[in-house]
Amino acid sequence: MKTNYVIEIFSSAQGEGKYIGCRQVFVRLAGCNLNCAYCDTNFSRADFCNVETAAGSMEFTQIKNPTVNEVVGIVKNFCVQAPTHSISFTGGEPLLSWQFIFDVASKLKKVCDVKIFLETNGTLTDELKKVLSVIDIISMDIKFPSVTGLNLFARHEEFLQTARGKDLYVKAVISAETSLEEFLQAVELVAKISPEILFILQPVTPISTVKAASPQKILYFQSLALKNLHDVRIIPQTHKLIGNW
Ligand code: SF4
Repeated sequence: MKTNYVIEIFSSAQGEGKYIGCRQVFVRLAGCNLNCAYCDTNFSRADFCNVETAAGSMEFTQIKNPTVNEVVGIVKNFCVQAPTHSISFTGGEPLLSWQFIFDVASKLKKVCDVKIFLETNGTLTDELKKVLSVIDIISMDIKFPSVTGLNLFARHEEFLQTARGKDLYVKAVISAETSLEEFLQAVELVAKISPEILFILQPVTPISTVKAASPQKILYFQSLALKNLHDVRIIPQTHKLIGNW
């Protein structure tokens, strides 16, 4: 099996979405199938993986790309050092490494009492189906055409149909560039799957040419979404406030 999937493993607090503040171990996997305008993540594949020296130390050492068993050992050790809510597979787009996720998560479920959390751009449904049995929580981003240059709504719909049996929520990053039309299309799409799905508006953290939306715009969008969905929340990224990790 290839081992060059994992680029970072560390223990920290979730900085976004429904489980904001919960202690997690993050396993960051290389590669992404999209190219979002606001992306601030380094997900390039590398020969080495950065591993935190102890849970929450924010000091890292480099090891050669770890195998499944090595990742399980590192994660288990972090869970002992700091009781952990869930293991977050993040990226990049982690589902590009679905086999690795499946293998690591299957083994972890036998040795740790933790949930498996997937952070995804919601476009790879076939890959999701292959790991669904080991996933507990799904945080799915809706990617607007203004961000990717692509219309991904049909792929998001297919993904949501498959994910809906899990603890699922949807996140949409709102910037000055987000149009009313694409936002309403996203709301309609989620409402069609189920109006009960938690919908989170995440104000963009400005980067490069991407500008922040005004508070009035975000509140207006929330009020529109609440006409079709039961639970719509505005939750900014907190890890940027506390210090980058
Ligand atoms: S899907 Fe996520 S990791 Fe991939 S380019 Fe977009 S923001 Fe970056």
